Amino acid sequence: MGGPRAGEDDTQFDVVILGAGPAGAAAAITLRRFTGLRVALVERRQFDPFRPGETVSPALFALTDYLGIERAGFEQRHLQSYAHAAAWGGADLVVRDFLFNGQGSGLHLDRMAFDSMLLDQAGQLGAVVLQPAELLALTPGTRWTVALRHGERRRELSAAYVIDCSGRNSVMVRQQRCPVLQTDRMVGVYAYYEAAQDQEREQRTLVETTENGWFYLAPLPGRRTALAFMTDADTLRTLDLLDPGQWHRHALASRHIGALVRQLPAPQAFRQYPIHSRVARLPANAAWTAAGDAAASFDPVSSLGIGHALSSGIHAARVAHAHVERGGGLGEGYRQALLDHFQSYVTTRRDLYANEQRWPGSGFWQRRLSEGWERAAA
Ligand SMILES: Cc1cc2nc3c(=O)[nH]c(=O)nc-3n(C[C@H](O)[C@H](O)[C@H](O)COP(=O)(O)OP(=O)(O)OC[C@H]3O[C@@H](n4cnc5c(N)ncnc54)[C@H](O)[C@@H]3O)c2cc1C
Repeated sequence: MGGPRAGEDDTQFDVVILGAGPAGAAAAITLRRFTGLRVALVERRQFDPFRPGETVSPALFALTDYLGIERAGFEQRHLQSYAHAAAWGGADLVVRDFLFNGQGSGLHLDRMAFDSMLLDQAGQLGAVVLQPAELLALTPGTRWTVALRHGERRRELSAAYVIDCSGRNSVMVRQQRCPVLQTDRMVGVYAYYEAAQDQEREQRTLVETTENGWFYLAPLPGRRTALAFMTDADTLRTLDLLDPGQWHRHALASRHIGALVRQLPAPQAFRQYPIHSRVARLPANAAWTAAGDAAASFDPVSSLGIGHALSSGIHAARVAHAHVERGGGLGEGYRQALLDHFQSYVTTRRDLYANEQRWPGSGFWQRRLSEGWERAAA
């Protein structure tokens, strides 16, 4: 089992995976667990402790089981998510309790712990993990040449197949000028609050719409709470919401979020994330593909991102295996499944935004109703 053994060439791989988030790790684990292919996983940085605070449904366990991740570790390392409350389409909160869905509670992920757990599994199964490693060049040929700086060393890896799992950076999708369809230009601004030791915290996710977008509050493991405001990039600038004072006033003005923010200390950090929805029209029969956010990314209101990262990582691994062993065969099915999934997501998302009708004159809510798919710049 494993990566290169003593005396083996440590530059020759069947599959090189760019990016070791959930999609990249799932692809590496699948390849190492179910095939004998040699796999390298390239990650450009140590993981950032400030992450969105993703909430995932219990449906995620079917995927982590497939990847051979023990369920026991989850409850200790991540926070149980028992309920979801939303004031969307009306001023009052509607609470949906995971208790009654028959699958158990969801999770507020500690992303550092989640990513490390997956990466450890990939490494134990014999994927060669290069982290931090900077990608210098990606050159096609009969095989790919992947030039990297790993520590002080410049290295050149050779690979039959490459999977782009670099998240919204989508390094290979861009390099290969793969067509991308995009629906919007939404962004999320996050503030991270650290509650005092004895302070009560909201234990559920909370969503509240406003005239110009919507708030999302999620408890994170430890004593941290993430609060985000999702809006359009131009509205963010018009309302000056990157200014912490302005941000605070905006949060206080909303009914449910304002009541919670009033009790929290000043936020520790602000982060801005792109959250627009887009999908790549992947090639059906090339020596590369993409998975996770690099292939399709979703509005956080859907809570689809992590599940999609794992399932598309698994699917992309099978496409890679078919290409290396038989010269192809699964690429078209994968590409079409991705487009179909995105199409049904766009319809569901539009219906959800249409439920909020309290601000008919607001540019933010009007835009959501008129969105189609448009070709994005490569
Ligand atoms: C604000 C916000 C809120 C969200 N909320 C939720 C939620 O509640 N539930 C949910 O399921 N999802 C949520 N998501 C989505 C979720 O975070 C992503 O879908 C998920 O992280 C995608 O996983 P990934 O592996 O595709 O990409 P990432 O997690 O982005 O991992 C990509 C990795 O590639 C690395 N990389 C980038 N470029 C290179 C390069 N050139 N070379 C090597 N490595 C590279 C990066 O460092 C990174 O580690 C949210 C996202 C945002 C932004």
